[in-house]
Order: sequence, then C-alpha cells, then structure tokens
Amino acid sequence: MLKVGIGPSSSHTLGPWRAAERWIESLKNSKHFDSVQSVAVDLYGSLSLTGKGHATDLATMLGLSGMDPETIPVEDIGKIIERINKDNLLTFGGEIDIVFNPINGIRFSQDFLPFHPNGMRFTARLMDQSEIQATYYSIGGGFVVKEENDAKAVEIKNRNEYPFPVNFGSELMQYCSDYGKTISEIVWENELVLRSAEEIESGLKTVWNTMLESMYIGCHTEGTLPGGLEVRRRSFDLHEKLKGQEKYNSPQEWLLAIRKTEVKFREILKWVSCFAMSVNEVNASLGRVVTAPTNGSAGVIPSVLMYYMVIENHSATFEHVKKFLLVAAEIGSIVKKGATISAAMGGCQAEIGVSSAMAAGALTELLGGTHEQVLIAAEIAMEHHLGLTCDPIGGLVQIPCIERNSMGALKAINAAEMALDRDPDNVRVPFDSAVKAMKDTADDMNSKYKETSQGGLAIGVNIADC
Ligand code: SF4
Repeated sequence: MLKVGIGPSSSHTLGPWRAAERWIESLKNSKHFDSVQSVAVDLYGSLSLTGKGHATDLATMLGLSGMDPETIPVEDIGKIIERINKDNLLTFGGEIDIVFNPINGIRFSQDFLPFHPNGMRFTARLMDQSEIQATYYSIGGGFVVKEENDAKAVEIKNRNEYPFPVNFGSELMQYCSDYGKTISEIVWENELVLRSAEEIESGLKTVWNTMLESMYIGCHTEGTLPGGLEVRRRSFDLHEKLKGQEKYNSPQEWLLAIRKTEVKFREILKWVSCFAMSVNEVNASLGRVVTAPTNGSAGVIPSVLMYYMVIENHSATFEHVKKFLLVAAEIGSIVKKGATISAAMGGCQAEIGVSSAMAAGALTELLGGTHEQVLIAAEIAMEHHLGLTCDPIGGLVQIPCIERNSMGALKAINAAEMALDRDPDNVRVPFDSAVKAMKDTADDMNSKYKETSQGGLAIGVNIADC
C-alpha cells in the first residue's frame, strides 16, 4: 500500500510507468524484445482524459526507457524527456535505441475499455513486420493488472499463506480479540510471510525517510508549480512563518527543530496543513513521494505521522513510525479489497477519504486506542468523505488536490480523538459498512466525477481565473 514513486498520480503516472516496465519484461520473457523495431501506446478512458495533466505520457516514456520510478534521479527526468522530444529517439528498456515520436507514439483515445476506466494498450512492431499487443489496467495506488483474473489469482494465493488472512475489518477485530494482539502486531506477522524482519524494517525506513524528505523539500522550495495554472507553492511561505529560530541542516535535524517551536491550536492546524501541502506540491512537480495509498493523497499520512512525531510525542522513535505505517497499510488494504482506491472508479473519496481513514486508524493505535477504536477512527474518517468527487482543474493534481490533503489530515486527527472517547459497544456504523457504502457510492457516482476533469470544479472554474 505504501510505495516510493514519482508524482503526480499513482494511477495515471506510477501505474502506466509500471505497466511499461512489465510489458518490457514480458517481451524479454517471450524473446521478442531484441526484435522490436517500433512501439506505440494507446491510452483509454480516464488515463486519456486527464493523461496530459497527470503526466501519463511522460511516465509511459520513462517506463519504456527502462527507468524505475523508485530509483531514477529526479533531475534526470527532464533530460530524458527532452531527448525523446528533440531527437525522436527512445532507448527502449534502457538497451536499444528506437525511433519514437511522442505525438503519434502515444495516442489519447476517448473510448473506455470494459474492464477498468484506466486502460492502456502497448503495440510493438517487430523486424518481420508482425505486431504484438498487450493491454494493462492501472487500478489505483500504482497497482497494475493485465486482466481481472490477474488480481484475483494473486489475492487468493496470498490469502492462504498468511497466519491472519484479512479481507474485512471484522476479521481483523476477531484476530486481535482472540490472540490479544494489536493491529500492528497482526500486520507484522502477516508481513513476515512475505519478507524477513530486516527487510520489513528497511522498507519502512525507506518509506518514512522518503515521506520526511518530501515534506522537507516541499517546505523549502519556493515558486510556482508546473502545468500552466500558475499555482503558487504555499508550504514555503507557511513554513517561513512557523519555523522559529532553531538551525538545522537535514530533514532529521529539522524534525527536532520543529519540536522546539511553540504550538497552540492555530499553529497545530497550520503545521499539519503545511506538512500535507508540502508533499503534494512536491508530487505536483514530478518529485519523489510515497504513494499512500495514491499520489494525489500522498500528503495525508506523512502529515499526520509528522504531527505525532513533532507535536504529540516528542520522544517518538522509529518504533512508533513502524506501528503507524503497518496499521495504515492494513486499513488501506481492506478498503482496496472491499471497495477501491482508484479515483477513476470512486472519485476522491477513494483517495483522500481512504488516506484519511488510514491515518486516523494508525494515529489512534499510537495514541493508545484499542483495536476497536482504531477501526472506529478509520470509519469516522471514511464516513465523512463519502461522496467526495474527483474534479481536478486542468487535469492537474493541484486544485483541489493540494488543499484537500490538508483537510484529510485534519479530519484524520479529529477522527482519532473522537474514536478515543467512543465506547465500542455504542458504535452504530462498523468500518466494513463504511467501506461498503463507499463502494456503493462509487458505483452510483456519475463518471464526470471520476478523474475525468469533465465535471465539478474542473468545468466550473475558468482556468484564466487561476
Ligand atoms: S481531486 Fe482527489 S482524487 Fe482527484 S486527482 Fe485530486 S486528490 Fe486525486
């Protein structure tokens, strides 16, 4: 659920990038790679309608060039794209130079493929002039499948391998009660099936360091965001007002310096907004962030975790970070299985709503809540995002997305506090019911509000006004 990647969108940037990587891998496996003469990509549905604003074309070219979103130096992105545009040459899979003109090499179709709104088809022409094609779907959060059975097969196989297989919140609650474990302990034991304790720790450290770094970069970068809306970066100014006199030279020292600033209620609101917006400003400028569970909502979880680290608990360590991320990931995973984390399927409730639920539950465990209260917090946060539409202006992940992360983070903190005062016996809406309501709302939502930029703010606001 938590992946390091490049902005601005998990489904429209990271997913297509990963799809291109997977396609190249399959060409190598089928021994066709070396005979590829030219390639073309067709983008369908939402991938096409907001593809330009979400940098789908750029991500696809980077994937075709054999670059990895986790490791590519951010400063190289512009150079690689510039070379393709200028010379019409793409180093396919990082190995073979082929002629590639982005104007006719990446085609934007208004059609929707039946399986999912985010479809893309790769075509390779081989030296013998035959063609081979493969279709992939970016199903949200950077996940990519070839077809429906692809996803189901993986889930069924994995479920039987876990000591505590979880599809629903109710199952998770039962394990916690039966075995006297916290949610983070249950998730940890499940994760051990997939990798060693050292690998889990190291992965979580990378996730946290990337989150911290993205907040740090966002808070220290001035100017306007790319894309043409002339959106001013706001976290820089906000941070200047909040930061105090302490000196620091790294993200880690910055964290310690913030602990020394004086905070009352208004400063807390501003810090949380500042952290959330800083990540999404980095995301909007094709910077490196953690997809959590998507890129558009990547600011909520770091912001709430940072709130805990610098305001709520000055003694917090990596152990707290670890628990937080484990709980957050499990909540996101349950929503992904029961509903969706794709705005193209469910609007913004599937992005900001889910990230807020993940953060609310995770914070509740750190604040000493019971496993029931963790899911109560997640439910409150999810419930109060139901129906939220996705209507980004100009197809860019900027308005309303950046501010929306701030709202999702603040709602998560409020949900955690409310849950800590709730008696689980008096709760009327179980978490699983909120997930089902989200799914039903997603199914009923007009497609204009599902990451197409064809409704709401996207058409209600004149771009010239921005
Ligand atoms: S409106 Fe919400 S779901 Fe849509 S791109 Fe922005 S953050 Fe993502």
